[in-house]
Amino acid sequence: MRRFVPASSLLLFLILAILGGVRNGTLQAANQLAEAWPNPEPDLRFKTDILVITAHPDDETMVTGYLARAIFDQQKHVAAIFTTPGNGGGDQVSTAQATALGDIRIMEAREALASFGVLHVWCLGGRDTPGQDLMWSLESWNHGDVLGQMVRLIRLTRPEVILTWLPDYVAGENHSDHQASGVIATEAFDLAGDPTKFPEQVAAPRNYTGIANMTEGLLPWQCKKIYYFSDAASTDFLVGKGPEYRTTDVSPAKNAPYFKLAAEEMAHHLTQKDSGQMAKRALETGDFAYFKQPVRLVLGKSLVAGSITGDVFEGITPGVIPFAPVHGYRAEARKGISVELGGPWDYYRDFWRAHDLQHMAELIQTPEVAVGNGVQVHVPILIRNDTDEAAEVSLTSTLPAGWKELYGTSRYPVRPHEVYPVQAVYEAASTEKPEWQTLRWKVESHGEVIPAITLRVLTDSTGLPQ
Ligand SMILES: [Zn+2]
Repeated sequence: MRRFVPASSLLLFLILAILGGVRNGTLQAANQLAEAWPNPEPDLRFKTDILVITAHPDDETMVTGYLARAIFDQQKHVAAIFTTPGNGGGDQVSTAQATALGDIRIMEAREALASFGVLHVWCLGGRDTPGQDLMWSLESWNHGDVLGQMVRLIRLTRPEVILTWLPDYVAGENHSDHQASGVIATEAFDLAGDPTKFPEQVAAPRNYTGIANMTEGLLPWQCKKIYYFSDAASTDFLVGKGPEYRTTDVSPAKNAPYFKLAAEEMAHHLTQKDSGQMAKRALETGDFAYFKQPVRLVLGKSLVAGSITGDVFEGITPGVIPFAPVHGYRAEARKGISVELGGPWDYYRDFWRAHDLQHMAELIQTPEVAVGNGVQVHVPILIRNDTDEAAEVSLTSTLPAGWKELYGTSRYPVRPHEVYPVQAVYEAASTEKPEWQTLRWKVESHGEVIPAITLRVLTDSTGLPQ
């Protein structure tokens, strides 16, 4: 014991001496270290105020009546993404079709947008997929591929605001590509600020001044607002859901009304009958009735203070805001036997909740679709059995005059906790002019009547295949 005490004191002394020496040595070494290069900032040459995300070259003309104001009189920087080259449209100028037409339409879009000073324009390479079922577009584009590209461009251009197509099933033109571009833009809005999504885009490269780096070195970016627009036959249902911009106001910078500036931009899309050719005619004849309609936007969501109908840039100040995670998908608690419209209607119910867009369900309260006279109409119906016992569910269609059922009315065996996807098929009535009609379904299980479902159908539509 007597020898142990001095030994431990000596040990303590040695430890302190060594630590002191190391500390002094470290300080000495630090003073001799060269200063590292400063960490480069994001490339602000491409910083964007408004990123317009649409499906086809000429879709941007839905909002050019507003963009003219934002670009020429508010000095906003705008960039544009098209998810497809619009290779499925017709050509009013030459015989070019399919892939060649896509190349032409992208050139037209670049010229059109350049006339507005918009030089940052991308096409993501999805294929033009005419129809109303957005699942076809998501499938043919390779959904995840387009989403990854869009997240990258958001991280690169760091937009304050996204303007995109309404993610909803609306009677009218209702192009599935339009819906799909709005769906993916919404997903990208919610993912670009999350470094765990597409992490290879934000991982620091090993040597950014060298070559052949395999990671991208971007920074996550949280956009502040997302607005939607629609090509529905009537946009009255959008009134009060977001800002509205008059196109009859005169641009002080250009000394011309916004509707005329919008027509001049659209006139570059000459392959398109209902856009470029129409705009050319308007400029020749002076009949700008189409272009004098206001630009109506729906506020999808905002992560800054401001009102629903206030200006797009209300509440937006420069700088970074924190990542805002959304609610995400949660399975709904259900009981008993229930029946719902499936397909896009079922998808959007979950999509809006998952992306904090619950108010979108109020825009179109009764599901609707527009179809041509006498065409086949496919109605996906989901029969859910949220009980512990097998059920037999009878489904009976109630159709307006002139409609014919091809498949649907039947007794369906549904196992416990199963969802039975029914694909009911009808032949639409032919009407002399567009007419709203209602399809109804009566549902019973073991003598009990289940709340029915309805679908409003606009007949004699000249729109896309359903
Ligand atoms: Zn389009």
